[in-house]
Amino acid sequence: MPRKKKVKAKDKARERVWKIRDSIQKLEDVKDKIIEFLNTTDESIDEAWITDVKEVYFSIVSAWELLKGISDDRTHYDKSAWSYLILAKSRLEQSSSELKITGKDGIKLESELRATFEVCWEQISTELENLVGKEEHKAPTQRVIKYSDEEYHLPCAICGEVGAGFKIGVSSIDGKKYLYYIGLTTTASFSLKDAKKVFSLLEEDKLAEVHDFAHESPALEEGMDAYCPKCDKIYCYNHYNVEEKWDEGWYDCHYGTCPLGHRRIILD
Ligand SMILES: [Zn+2]
Ligand SMILES: [Zn+2]
Repeated sequence: MPRKKKVKAKDKARERVWKIRDSIQKLEDVKDKIIEFLNTTDESIDEAWITDVKEVYFSIVSAWELLKGISDDRTHYDKSAWSYLILAKSRLEQSSSELKITGKDGIKLESELRATFEVCWEQISTELENLVGKEEHKAPTQRVIKYSDEEYHLPCAICGEVGAGFKIGVSSIDGKKYLYYIGLTTTASFSLKDAKKVFSLLEEDKLAEVHDFAHESPALEEGMDAYCPKCDKIYCYNHYNVEEKWDEGWYDCHYGTCPLGHRRIILD
């Protein structure tokens, strides 16, 4: 692209990112209405619910601030921006589960919150993909990637993004070495003794057996959260369509639904 055109495209992107401010303003207005409602309603509410709805808003603002940085060439902000978006979504589900039990007015506010949130989510995630560039979806050639002698990565069967992994690491609590599982929604630690077994199963591409091993341990009762047993495949956060469930302000569980529609609880 000629330089002039490139600059123009960038200015346009910056302008679009700046305009998302209007949608965030609408979210802020709803957030303020909800806080006022929670402060004045007769229903018995928990003080923490006010913090929860504030966190929905502030996480969106943080994602947008990072997005502005990206439009100024700080593209390495993209992972943090996505983390804030996912955090915002989590707080939305929590806040929504609280508002739903506060009567008619709360239910109305909940749908306003969700509607304004979804516009922000859509605009920020679209610009993130535009600016950082949608990574080409490429199915990985291997199901297990040996990253080092002490670390294995499990890529998404569809796009190749790392969905989960196992590695040996040192605990900051007792300074001892453990085997860690790092997944989509959780991390878990296992005894270092298990590393040999897990790594050799991974070497042999036996994902189902690694899943069963995890399943049987109290550290990971639902097994590997990135794994669909029916497909015998690993998926990333997006391709496993991870949903977080909340019940009256309390965390309930995470569901995953794979591209073939297999749905299961991946974290409880
Ligand atoms: Zn994927
Ligand atoms: Zn499946």
